[in-house]
Amino acid sequence: MHCRHLRTRGFIRKSFGDKSMKVEKLKPSEQLCKVMSRIYDSGLTTVSGGNLSLKDEYDNIWVTPSGGDKGRYQPEDMLKIGRDGKIQGTRKPSVETGIHRSILADRPEFKGVVHAHPSGLVAISLLRQLPETMLFPQVANEVRNVRLAAYGCPGSEELRANVAKEFKDNPTTNTAILENHGAFVASEKGLSHAFGIFKDLDFSIRVQAKAHSFWGKGPNLISKEQLERYNRALRPALGTFKQGEISEKERELRALMCDFCSRAYQRKLFTQNIGVISARLEGENFLITESDSDNAELTASEIVKVCGSTAEEGKTPSKSVLLHKRIYETNPDIHAIIMAAPENAMVFAVTDREYDLKTIPECYIVLREDIAKFPFGSTIEKQEELADYFKRKSPVAIVKNDCYICTGENLFNAFDRLEVVEFSAEAVMNANLLKGQIKSITEQQVHEIKVKFGIV
Ligand SMILES: [Zn+2]
Repeated sequence: MHCRHLRTRGFIRKSFGDKSMKVEKLKPSEQLCKVMSRIYDSGLTTVSGGNLSLKDEYDNIWVTPSGGDKGRYQPEDMLKIGRDGKIQGTRKPSVETGIHRSILADRPEFKGVVHAHPSGLVAISLLRQLPETMLFPQVANEVRNVRLAAYGCPGSEELRANVAKEFKDNPTTNTAILENHGAFVASEKGLSHAFGIFKDLDFSIRVQAKAHSFWGKGPNLISKEQLERYNRALRPALGTFKQGEISEKERELRALMCDFCSRAYQRKLFTQNIGVISARLEGENFLITESDSDNAELTASEIVKVCGSTAEEGKTPSKSVLLHKRIYETNPDIHAIIMAAPENAMVFAVTDREYDLKTIPECYIVLREDIAKFPFGSTIEKQEELADYFKRKSPVAIVKNDCYICTGENLFNAFDRLEVVEFSAEAVMNANLLKGQIKSITEQQVHEIKVKFGIV
């Protein structure tokens, strides 16, 4: 049972399928419910907006119903459209069913399609522009040949034809922005993957917008060459070992990692795909999340044990595993590492503005020293330099156009740092919107904090 999901605003919510089961393994109707509730819970749609579809192994198409409460769908509300076009179900299919069917028919490689109206994607659709995709590697790698579909009334044949045309005429396209409306994203890997792309693109646009407002110009982007180098180095080769009996300590640490991962997701510090947690087990052995772990509902089985140069058999650790290994080897006092890309803090990672700690005392108390910025690709190309950096007093680093690396003496400590990083960044963004001049605390006041909290 998903106890933490059961009671929400007075309603009893049903859980969809077994939590230990990946979304793609659930029944089609359960997948639609699960992904729609993630879209709603992430604030990416209103209760009435958005629709989803997926194609099952028999080429049936499953769609969400028209109207209703998107935050409260049940599997029995979903509709199945057979290959003969017959619709089974008790509800009326979504008004955009025609668009979903056209995309899935014209591009048979796709297995899942997501449509909704989150604020970042709608903003770009109001400007009738294409989003910048070279801001973060996940978006640059996943959003392919994004197109702008001409305006049409929702549910109309005109809109169906306009969106279908972009997917049909452009065989590499997996994303279309709809003028003055929102976006459609399709994936070969399934509905959950399409949602991951959709969410990360919306996130990227919101960071871009904040960077513009804060810096007065567009964000720094990744070059094609940088992305190619990053992708080439993606998969570190580790040997494997067979996992034996799990100690009580390891079991508890895995459970704690799951708890912090789920909190990071709920508090929008992680997305489904972006965010890595690791924790030292004993000596230089540590636990780290899998490369394709589902951060929304991480389970203990999606955590990989790393011992020396070997990883638990049958699992692929996060691509940043060698950096974590290096940090633990170099810094005996570090027992936990969290890598994340929270929305407000990432503004400092895509602009030349420094993350200034002289805003509130909490920054110095929790983050201790100024946060240095490392070039994009450092998680792979500058592991030694990063590990040495943490040897000094600074527990947090920024990697441009990529992430924050927060270290700590335990998971709570690293998580606290991540939250302080994001909350303070959000306060700075709000101060910027208030159009005032931020007044920093003085060196003398910083010194006073450091003495009182034993930071010197
Ligand atoms: Zn719509």
